[in-house]
Amino acid sequence: MSKKIGVHWFRLDLRLNDNPSLEKLSKEVDSVLPIYIFDENIKIGQASKCWLEKSLEKLNAELNKLESKLYVFKGDSKKIIGEIINNKNISHVFWNRLYDKKSIKRDKDIKSFLINKSIVSNTFNGYLLTEPWNIKNKSGSFFKVFTPFWKTNFELLKEKKLKKKSSSKILFYKKKINLKEHSLKINIPRKKWMNKILSHWDIGEQSAQLRLKNFIKNKLNNYGSGRDRPDIEFTSRLSAHLHFGEISPMRVFSDVMNSKIDGDNKQKYLSEIGWRDFSYNLLFNYPEITELPIQSKFLKFPWLKDSNSIKQWKAGKTGVPIVDAGMKELYEMGWMHNRVRMIVGSFLTKNLLLHWKNGENWFFDTLVDADIGSNAAGWQWISGSGADASPYFRIFNPILQGKKFDPKGDYVRKYIPSLNKIPDKFVHSPWEMSVDDQKKYNFNLGKDYPLPIVDLSETRKRALAAFKSISE
Ligand SMILES: Cc1cc2nc3c(=O)[nH]c(=O)nc-3n(C[C@H](O)[C@H](O)[C@H](O)COP(=O)(O)OP(=O)(O)OC[C@H]3O[C@@H](n4cnc5c(N)ncnc54)[C@H](O)[C@@H]3O)c2cc1C
Repeated sequence: MSKKIGVHWFRLDLRLNDNPSLEKLSKEVDSVLPIYIFDENIKIGQASKCWLEKSLEKLNAELNKLESKLYVFKGDSKKIIGEIINNKNISHVFWNRLYDKKSIKRDKDIKSFLINKSIVSNTFNGYLLTEPWNIKNKSGSFFKVFTPFWKTNFELLKEKKLKKKSSSKILFYKKKINLKEHSLKINIPRKKWMNKILSHWDIGEQSAQLRLKNFIKNKLNNYGSGRDRPDIEFTSRLSAHLHFGEISPMRVFSDVMNSKIDGDNKQKYLSEIGWRDFSYNLLFNYPEITELPIQSKFLKFPWLKDSNSIKQWKAGKTGVPIVDAGMKELYEMGWMHNRVRMIVGSFLTKNLLLHWKNGENWFFDTLVDADIGSNAAGWQWISGSGADASPYFRIFNPILQGKKFDPKGDYVRKYIPSLNKIPDKFVHSPWEMSVDDQKKYNFNLGKDYPLPIVDLSETRKRALAAFKSISE
């Protein structure tokens, strides 16, 4: 009898461990053909492309150790899968689910196509702790507010049996196939910038596991108080690994849950992973979240159009140190600390009064963790238009935020070295230096560092008036 081959279609699950589709498939077939498709219909930013290329290389290397490889293709997913299943021994095609409207539509279409061709097709949850349709409030609808969402989700998770690391042996397909394969390389135009970003990260499944282990060992017990401090590294920096599925959220949840770290820090960290699920709950239930405000009154918000301020914001030249440092961190690393994401987001949408889409687009292009759910939800939250949003009148004061979360100015100085010349008390508001102070510290405001492009207090008032205009 001929041997059954099952296709595992890798998407945002670039790992061999804790991969439900791979595990289930390997039990039903004789060997697994691991494929990846560059599907040009799916939006991806520049920084993410770089991460993806490296992550695929790493996955391929892991498969090489098992004497197989990653079979890579480029083009329309349905067409390619259609060609692959022409091989008569292919009996199954499995994958882990995605939750944005484009992927859902494509995947449904491919699944019915496969069923029509008498191929066994099955899909799994490998991306979230709990999928959106499994978390319902008492009236059977979805949650719009995080706290009850997380309480319900956490109860469900406690009931789930947390597995020890999976050690299932999967037999991967090893032979040549009769189809045109694509190389692992992606066309990345701005190589120099991208290489700089990549120099900050260790990519791939093994690195993700190591990062989690080190985080639990060295940082988790300070997470509650340290997570808001961009000047010290107390967060896990697992976001891109989680985005590309190099590690499963369930593995993160279970290892943190089983660690001996004190309850509060552990709970705080788990709830942050919960925000990831919550973003997907919003994305699934508001499929237009990347384009339209969840609160429809924001459709008539009087956003300004000012290409110059957008440029200055992107380049980290607004003259407000914590904002500029954040934007420079983003350009340097392809990542930005969460507290600073909120500060730069508030500055863009409230002090500059620019549409949150400007920020969402820029983040999507430059973040290595750019994620359709978390990014859109983050921007809607900070601009005040989301379901469980920061109220619009909560306008971050970047000076106070800086003083509180970067008290010695180490973070801003790291990205804006010219601020090294000035004392701590001015580091978050250099424009408060008198001419004499500037002379004393040999610091020339406007030359060594720009003057602020807006008056923080005036623009705060302007933002509140704009909000009032849509609330009446
Ligand atoms: C405007 C804005 C845009 C954002 N865009 C993205 C994005 O594109 N991709 C992304 O992964 N996160 C995004 N976030 C959420 C958050 O800033 C990052 O997940 C976090 O900074 C990643 O760093 P970390 O891994 O060290 O986080 P940790 O503090 O170690 O948290 C652990 C994990 O929990 C998840 N998480 C934490 N906070 C959030 C949150 N608020 N929303 C969703 N998930 C969260 C992430 O997967 C993160 O890796 C955004 C936040 C804002 C305010």
